[in-house]
Amino acid sequence: MAHSERHEELVAAAALGLPLGNERAELDRHLAEGCAVCDGLLADFRRASTAMAAGVPEVVPPPHLKEKILGAVRAGITRIVIPRDNAPDLEDLTQEVRDQIEVHPVATLAEALAVTLRDAALENGRLTYGVPSVRDTGETVTPQ
Ligand SMILES: [Zn+2]
Repeated sequence: MAHSERHEELVAAAALGLPLGNERAELDRHLAEGCAVCDGLLADFRRASTAMAAGVPEVVPPPHLKEKILGAVRAGITRIVIPRDNAPDLEDLTQEVRDQIEVHPVATLAEALAVTLRDAALENGRLTYGVPSVRDTGETVTPQ
């Protein structure tokens, strides 16, 4: 079956662990046929979940954010996503740490995906792919 935007939505839903019902089989068939677009998207989502596991959009603001960021810096991670509510915690970080990591505060999962997915962007609240993007939410925290 030819690739369509619907497949991209199914890939995203599958990656987020949402139930697909009957469409699961359709997606599996499509992937089995070897769609380069969907394969790339899947790879992006895997990278994004790794980034989120390390970096963090959680519903509840995580405790010990400072320690997590320091751990990320030690692990060589150069860009993380944090809940916007935690942005004030960044004031605890030293300038040296701030120089080593790019922190993106986000309020929604769509914002987090726009930051972490290659060629993804948020336009009027909708996540888009394949558009040259700024790769951030426009709210990068810059060191004081
Ligand atoms: Zn496809």
